Amino acid sequence: MNTNSEIWFVTGSQHLYGKETLKQVDVDSTKIVNGFNSSGKFPVKIVFKPVVKTPDEILKICIEVSSEIKCIGLITWMHTFSPAKMWIAGLKALTKPYMHLHTQFNENLPWSEIDMDYMNLHQSAHGGREYGFINARMRKNPKVVVGHWQNEEVQNKVAMWCRSAIGWADSQGLKVARFGDNMREVAVTEGDKVEAQIKFGWQISAFGVGDLVAYVNKVTDAEVDELYEEYEASYIVADNCKPGAEFYENVRVQARYEIAIKRFLAEGGFKAFTTNFENLTGLSQLPGLASQRLMAAGYGFGAEGDWKQAALLRIIKTISAGMKGGSSFMEDYTYHLTPGNEAVLGAHMLEICPSIASKKPRLEVHPLGIGGKDAPARLVFESATGNAMNVTMIDLGNRFRIIVNTLDVIEPLNEMPKLPVASAFWKTHPNLADGAAAWIYAGGTHHSAYTMALTPEYIEMFAEYADVEFVLIDQTTTIQEFKKELRWNDIYYMLANGLK
Ligand code: MN
Repeated sequence: MNTNSEIWFVTGSQHLYGKETLKQVDVDSTKIVNGFNSSGKFPVKIVFKPVVKTPDEILKICIEVSSEIKCIGLITWMHTFSPAKMWIAGLKALTKPYMHLHTQFNENLPWSEIDMDYMNLHQSAHGGREYGFINARMRKNPKVVVGHWQNEEVQNKVAMWCRSAIGWADSQGLKVARFGDNMREVAVTEGDKVEAQIKFGWQISAFGVGDLVAYVNKVTDAEVDELYEEYEASYIVADNCKPGAEFYENVRVQARYEIAIKRFLAEGGFKAFTTNFENLTGLSQLPGLASQRLMAAGYGFGAEGDWKQAALLRIIKTISAGMKGGSSFMEDYTYHLTPGNEAVLGAHMLEICPSIASKKPRLEVHPLGIGGKDAPARLVFESATGNAMNVTMIDLGNRFRIIVNTLDVIEPLNEMPKLPVASAFWKTHPNLADGAAAWIYAGGTHHSAYTMALTPEYIEMFAEYADVEFVLIDQTTTIQEFKKELRWNDIYYMLANGLK
């Protein structure tokens, strides 16, 4: 439960029906709010607000939603008919995510009792359509959830929307620290940081690695000792990494990095960070174990300066807080191309989050092979199996595009005793040939935020709040249709964005 935030619930009506009916509307709305709050499904408290009946009342509540920091979104419901011109000023003033709950208080028609009073009170079926028109007319795009409010699936969908609103709130003012710059000559990790701040609210700042080194140098031996104890308790530590052994000092160096980076991020209010193995002046190792553990603690991370995936991963971790399944920075690394059994081995040089691990990770030290630095400590494990997806974002010059590809994560087909990094082995939807081709046609990066907790719909809602392009590659994707979608989106966003 996100206790710092609230989502408000407001019901639209008008004065036409008289006091008694409006009183009943408030009573029914209160019951729905109480039902949601006691369901145990909601990640945030839903707060009842009295029924709105005039343009002034609607404008007032929308201004309050927009200005109240604790309020991160609004659920709107039309119990009766609420003439939608009344909503124009309010919706213009509303700056936070809102959804349209198209429900009705009673599940069943009261066949033997139904009369005109009943008909006047339960008008969602046409009241919601009037409200839907004004949202469409104003080119607003609130999430629409249809069904009885006590239905489990309906509650799950509303709760899902609430989580997306939590993600959007986290995105506003999200601070990303970049230690060093992007990897030299790499194209896809670049992007327009001003535009990212306008669209998503991200504040992305670069620091010299020397700024971090100053923090590393201040970490005490006692702090390192204490953190090493935590490593011993949490992981299977390789014999050559234990006190007195060959690589013990290499592990302690990562403990220093972890404490230093965490302190740096906390002091600056940063929730995500990037590193770059080319920018390590003053550090003897690439932060591996340190980055892995900070991801597990909820920080976003991107390697090679990839701030877009760092911010996305942070938001995914916020949206999925308390849900089953971990999330990690990821890279499509190497293929298994046996016909009929094509799959991807995802990994990175070091930085995969142990929240996705199938079992207790091993703490090991191995040389890196590139970068010319000391052998870094890292956690080695395999991902849990099941449904997952890769989420990535690219900058196309005139817009951001968010790409999602759903995956089946499976057991590796054989042991990999010499693989010195964490990994995930997956089948790409709809199959490797079309899934990878679609990803490549879309310009998707080799980096992504991999999640076993969320479904594509969460990311789609996030993209809609930001008004950026979202494309999905899943079981239903065909290359022919996907290429058309990309072409049409090019025109749509050119026209829709204009000079924005
Ligand atoms: Mn990489």
